[in-house]
Amino acid sequence: MTLSPLPPPCLVGLPYDASSSFLRGAALAPPKIRHALWSPAGNAFSEHMHDLSAPNVLLDAGDLVLRAEATARVAIEAGIRELLTRPARPIALGGDHSVTYPVLRAINGVSFQRPTILHVDAHADLYDEFEGDRYSHACPFARIMEEGLASRLVQVGIRTLTPHLRAQAARFGVEIIDMRAWAAGERPQIDGPVYVSIDLDGLDPAFAPGVSHWEPGGLSTRDVLGMIHALTTPIVGADVVEYNPLRDASGLTATVAAKIVKELASAMQSSGGAAPV
Ligand code: MN
Ligand code: MN
Repeated sequence: MTLSPLPPPCLVGLPYDASSSFLRGAALAPPKIRHALWSPAGNAFSEHMHDLSAPNVLLDAGDLVLRAEATARVAIEAGIRELLTRPARPIALGGDHSVTYPVLRAINGVSFQRPTILHVDAHADLYDEFEGDRYSHACPFARIMEEGLASRLVQVGIRTLTPHLRAQAARFGVEIIDMRAWAAGERPQIDGPVYVSIDLDGLDPAFAPGVSHWEPGGLSTRDVLGMIHALTTPIVGADVVEYNPLRDASGLTATVAAKIVKELASAMQSSGGAAPV
């Protein structure tokens, strides 16, 4: 196995859902995703045959302690900053999608200036404000683009645009591959360092029912894994967000989240051009 010279990926749980607009529950996600990741129901190898259970392949920093809204954002930025300087590359386990904004602030503050963001979601999350909250989980990518924390924002799986969101996307130069474009064969073209943000509601609820916002007509699990496997440039960090265990009676969605984490961690080992051997 050839290891990338970049720092190893490291799980970090962000048990925070106070910026959710509809249902709470995503704060319960990190231990459920970890449990599914290491379940004896499967083995620890990615599809590229990286053994994620081998020493120093996938680290785990545990969960951050997060409280009220404003202090949680500060704590997330500080916690991710600390993790980056270990050094390690974060795979953040949400939590609602509001966590991505402080994660990107940390990444831009330490290194990896202005990555491209590959953002999988049913929703553009570009609202200027939502129900009076500028830091709602409906708003993180507006804050990220306002602060110049990404060189490009490429969104895939979108199927809930409104005139306001369309205007916001035009204002920030967001590249949107909505579900109709995806179905027509359009695929993301990523060059340069990339941050991957996976909102599980980007998947069709048939594949991932354990999310707060069911939005039919979405991506398959294999569609998302294929996008991860297609990345050839360095992955500077990632998040898997919006898993809501309270909506996941069978536990299936935890396993889908864990599978995505596994393939992200493996892709982070491979990224930078070194193919795994
Ligand atoms: Mn989202
Ligand atoms: Mn969403």
